[in-house]
Amino acid sequence: MNGLETVIGLEVHVQLRTVSKMFCGCAVRFGAPPNSLVCPVCLGLPGALPVANEEAVRLAVRAAHVLGCTVNATSEFVRKQYFYPDLPKGYQITQRADPLARGGAIDLPSTRGGHRVRLHGLHLEEDAGKSIHDRFEGATAVDLNRAGVPLIEIVTEPDLRSPEEARFALSRLKQLLEHYAKVSHCNMEEGSLRVDANVSVRPAGAGNLGTRVEIKNLNSFGSVQRALAFEGRRMTQRLAAGRPVEAETRLYDAAQGRTRTLRGKEEERDYRYFPEPDLPLVELSASEVEGFRRGLPASPREIEERLVRQFGFSEDRACQIAATPERAEYLDAAVGARDSRFAVIAANMIIGEVAAVLNRRGGGSEADVVESAELARLVELRLQGALSSRTAALALRLLFEQAARGGRRLDVDELVRRRQLSQVEDAGRLSEWVDRVLGGSPEEVRRYRSGDRKLLGYFMGEVMRASSGRADPEAVRRRLERALEEREG
Ligand SMILES: [Zn+2]
Repeated sequence: MNGLETVIGLEVHVQLRTVSKMFCGCAVRFGAPPNSLVCPVCLGLPGALPVANEEAVRLAVRAAHVLGCTVNATSEFVRKQYFYPDLPKGYQITQRADPLARGGAIDLPSTRGGHRVRLHGLHLEEDAGKSIHDRFEGATAVDLNRAGVPLIEIVTEPDLRSPEEARFALSRLKQLLEHYAKVSHCNMEEGSLRVDANVSVRPAGAGNLGTRVEIKNLNSFGSVQRALAFEGRRMTQRLAAGRPVEAETRLYDAAQGRTRTLRGKEEERDYRYFPEPDLPLVELSASEVEGFRRGLPASPREIEERLVRQFGFSEDRACQIAATPERAEYLDAAVGARDSRFAVIAANMIIGEVAAVLNRRGGGSEADVVESAELARLVELRLQGALSSRTAALALRLLFEQAARGGRRLDVDELVRRRQLSQVEDAGRLSEWVDRVLGGSPEEVRRYRSGDRKLLGYFMGEVMRASSGRADPEAVRRRLERALEEREG
């Protein structure tokens, strides 16, 4: 509108999936009774000494690897002083001038804009506790279980140009950290992935950024997109009306679908940063940094590009298969050396039926549903015409149910035979079903004869039902048409 463009940057906090907190031995667990996971260190009691959690450093370096950041050989913890009820020490241990890693990028899939979102960098810090405003009438409670949980903060450059892009970049970031680096549960509802967004509006192509507004309280992917869309419209309308945009922090109200002022422009707060005197520098040798790369899969972008090249997948199908590296491996195991026709059917079954079973059971791996070899056999039977997409899906569910019950598991061919899942083209059984359906629907047969040809679909449905879906639909259509003609004659 009016040649203005929206410029967006994200600031993301991600809790690392460690067993214990960043600087003490307290357990990290969501949903534990309030203030049950605390000790003198994370309560900030005098004389308590922090010790950095090596596993948190390792996970942060792995996160840096999947994001393509450069890991610094030396990084430093600093104290950021401010007062807040959920910050018992009166300061937060974080990193600033010498962070764990710099640079990096998130590559958006080509169906999602395809461009590169540069990262400013990644640093380690500790989480604060949680203020709870709705537990006690007229009072705020504080739960310090979260105080000291290891966090990484990732800040993007202002490279995003629309709310949709911001959403895609965020989902790519979550995919990389949750499924590729496996460093966090990235659960927005539980707060292990939290997002703030910076947004400004400027004449398209201008070099300088417009006045920036920060939006907080974005607790779902949908909220991020809707809040940014609302804010972009609000700022554009103000500028179009000749009114300036105020620099401020705004809160997104998901129920109202709008943002509102949380606090106005403040002077740059003085946090009186200084090096944390109780912690040594984080020093990582080049071989340690490389060693932490061990076991990381290829990037989702590489996997997607290979699937498009090797099997001619659409970008969309490739993205869905590369959602997790395990899913891509599972497809490769099922397809083996077979061709792209085979791979497309296998991919569709993985995205469709296998994913549906996993959703119903609330997660797990594809191989828990059916072995890749079993999936391959189902695809073969489909290519031979012995199974339809429907009966193949049914066979897959039956195989999974058998496995879930334990006990002996039939192999695919045995199951198809016993449950009579093969498509029936046998003329005798087809005419039996057709005769039964036509015999039982004299009124519909009369209407068909007097010209209501749409009823063919009704008869088809009835015959397919009579055959429990096993009849070959094409054979049913031919036989029905012939039988109805005969009855007409
Ligand atoms: Zn503790």
